[in-house]
Amino acid sequence: MIDTANTASKKRGKLIVVSGPSGVGKGTVCGILKKNKDKLNLSVSVSATTRAPRDDEKEGINYFFKTEDEFRDMVDNGCFLEWATYNDHNYGTPEKPVLEKLEKGINVLLEIDVQGALKVMEKYPGGVYVFISPPSIEELRNRLVGRGSESAEEIEKRVKLAEWEMLQRDKYDYIVVNDVLEEAVKKVAQIITA
Ligand code: 5GP
Repeated sequence: MIDTANTASKKRGKLIVVSGPSGVGKGTVCGILKKNKDKLNLSVSVSATTRAPRDDEKEGINYFFKTEDEFRDMVDNGCFLEWATYNDHNYGTPEKPVLEKLEKGINVLLEIDVQGALKVMEKYPGGVYVFISPPSIEELRNRLVGRGSESAEEIEKRVKLAEWEMLQRDKYDYIVVNDVLEEAVKKVAQIITA
């Protein structure tokens, strides 16, 4: 287990884990926080995934896009702080850059799914865990439909997963309801600087 608390000798960065159901807007919240990264002394971790890039996504910015074999090699080589399979695709957080930044005193933000967050909670109990919640499951479905990046079948799968994910929210340090985006961003920013 790695100590993520601030020690007397050196002030480490804070590990902030933002998660919640797909479509809740956590990517948007984290995107806005990223724009304020200097003010928040923040670095946003870039995950690896086996899913195909969406039209507007860029290698190394949104994700490191990997084949199944490349991802498996990374797992076998112990590269990941955590990884999870979400809707038939693998997603993982490369560990080395996270540890290096924390060591340098930089806060690191992970935007990951709930399964991954639960794994990180065990490994890094000193982290700060934020669950972004939709106002309701119906509203979540509307947002997934609205963003238009998933098929109807995929949306139903994500909604079904969201029902389980919502049951995990009490395990987090903070629950932030993303009803009004600006308010949600403000709350997470306050948690980072607290
Ligand atoms: P999407 O395919 O919509 O980009 O992401 C699907 C889900 O995977 C989202 O909930 C997203 O937060 C999560 N995710 C992205 N990167 C990681 C990661 O490194 N680890 C885990 N466990 N989940 C991730």
